[in-house]
Amino acid sequence: MAYGSGMYIEDQLAEIRANIAAAARKAGRAEDSVALLAVSKTFPVSDIMHAYADGQRLFGENRLQEAMEKMPAMPQDCEWHLIGPLQRNKVRKALEHGFSLLEAVDSRKLAEAISRIAGELGVTARILLEVNVDGEESKHGFTPAGLADEWDSLVALPHLEIRGLMCIPAPTETPEGARPAFAALRHLAEELRARGPLPLPELSMGMSHDYAVAVEEGATIVRVGSAIFGKRG
Ligand SMILES: *Cc1c(COP(=O)(O)O)cnc(C)c1O
Repeated sequence: MAYGSGMYIEDQLAEIRANIAAAARKAGRAEDSVALLAVSKTFPVSDIMHAYADGQRLFGENRLQEAMEKMPAMPQDCEWHLIGPLQRNKVRKALEHGFSLLEAVDSRKLAEAISRIAGELGVTARILLEVNVDGEESKHGFTPAGLADEWDSLVALPHLEIRGLMCIPAPTETPEGARPAFAALRHLAEELRARGPLPLPELSMGMSHDYAVAVEEGATIVRVGSAIFGKRG
């Protein structure tokens, strides 16, 4: 089946939904406790429409500019997450563009900027905090220790709703290889929940290669791109 054809996308979505349901059952979780975020970055609106026609409503883009071009071209009942890094000077634009969740908030400075601008706009911004679970220096995100240190000042930011944590672990040979990173994110969320006062319901982890393992480890959002739409060019 050709990449990008409606049939291809429909088949892939069916298989991924079945795999997510199976992984949830295996972990003793409700099948509907996991949201499939279809990562449509680099793919044209015509492909996104195929997924839409198959019932997909939740989409993720990693670049603000690209997202802003596609969002108005899609039906209104789509929901969008920004999953890529956000520059502080683009926060206002991002908040004005109706993402339901900013998933990659990777520093306290960025969280502060989002809270301040959300306050100016009279909205509450829903965010996830990105955690650098494998501690590679080159990567974005809070280290687990850094997040624990900054927690009190983060939860005090008035115009933010911190919904949970996300991670993008280093690529691994096998899906199993990512399990320790996913488990580490879950443990960190459990520690922060115990500290209070936030319920932190969301864990965004797992991509095309390893989403089933992520579901077994507690993911509530899996971010799947190439397994749905085909290889990116
Ligand atoms: C591109 C991307 C994904 C999806 O990756 P695939 O391997 O295509 O599923 C998930 N999360 C983030 C942050 C991304 O940038």
